[in-house]
Amino acid sequence: MKRFFGTAALLFAAAATLCGCGMKQPLRTQGAATAMGTVVRLTLYTSDGDEDDIGEIVDLIQEMEEDTLSRRLESSEIYRINQAAGSGEGTLISDELADALERCMELKERCGGAFDPAIGALVKLWDIDGWASGLREGDFFVPDSEKISEALAQGGSEKIRLERKEDGTALFTADGVILDLGAVGKGMALDRVLDSLKDMPDISGACVSVGGSVLTYGEKPDGTKWKIGIADPDDPSVNIGFLSVHGQWCISTSGDYERYVMLDGRRYHHILDPATGYPADSGVRSVTVLTKDGFLSDGLSTACFVLGRQKGMELAQSYGAEVLFVDSDGKITMSQGMKEYFQEAD
Ligand code: FAD
Ligand code: MG
Repeated sequence: MKRFFGTAALLFAAAATLCGCGMKQPLRTQGAATAMGTVVRLTLYTSDGDEDDIGEIVDLIQEMEEDTLSRRLESSEIYRINQAAGSGEGTLISDELADALERCMELKERCGGAFDPAIGALVKLWDIDGWASGLREGDFFVPDSEKISEALAQGGSEKIRLERKEDGTALFTADGVILDLGAVGKGMALDRVLDSLKDMPDISGACVSVGGSVLTYGEKPDGTKWKIGIADPDDPSVNIGFLSVHGQWCISTSGDYERYVMLDGRRYHHILDPATGYPADSGVRSVTVLTKDGFLSDGLSTACFVLGRQKGMELAQSYGAEVLFVDSDGKITMSQGMKEYFQEAD
């Protein structure tokens, strides 16, 4: 609550509506904040219009960043793990993080290494997030190939070992390994939000987005569907289409148009291919994944971006997820099941 109102509140509004029969409809409350280096937007439909609900949900996401996932904050588990890499001493980690890392390792196996939770050394070397968000000063330069090879050699989830014991889980990482869960963190936050919403009976419907990952939950009072825009990679202020869904879903988009740097006419973006060490060049500009699970929607959208259309489609379908690709030439391709939800913009 405090952090939401004190430092990050961008917008706050509550609106009540009366239905035709004069019965009171759920109240709509909206808010926005910053977390995980991006914008969090919330729309809640509640029986009592309790504004504290917004702050409670924002707190969950910010706590996950501070206590668990941040690579930058000393308070987080990932930070402590990265500090202890190669020491031979296991770091005791929470069950939530242990489960997530197991799922990361499974995803890495299933996508042939296109997604790698231990890619942190390479991410740090390129530091595209830093350049794109204006945190770095001076000219952007492409790292030299020797440094890229060194950083690549530090990755690979085979250098991570989890030891589950009765009193907790210990994690061991090899020397130089830097974990980076940037590709699944926002989805994990949505899974945590979903768990909480289930314990908030006053909330009948919600739409929460953390950057390019969106959770829909319950229903709107008028029974219309949740409508999630898919940005045009050539002009992200415009949507190329929408996904319309009822009830609970998670939708994540990975694209090359949010975090990038242009140099000599070439676009260097933040989704890196562990096979080459360079920004992925698979012929797609964006990938949108629709599933019930936040971790999967986020992780798969990154993995499918690296894999490209054909292999990405196979991977998503092997998880029972729906997927939509926007190619470099603007062509839209989607799984059969996605057609039920997608409408092209007028
Ligand atoms: P996604 O495709 O979901 O993920 C791309 C990100 O995953 C990359 O930025 C990189 O970190 C990682 N990655 C790249 N390639 C691969 C790969 N092949 N396999 C696995 N992972 C890969 N940004 C800031 O500028 N400042 C911050 O303070 C900040 N704090 C953050 C804290 C947390 C807890 C998280 C999760 C992210 C934070 N970010 C921060 C990162 C920022 O929000 C990223 O842009 C975001 O995570 C990328 O998400 P995406 O949906 O655009 O792309
Ligand atoms: Mg992702």
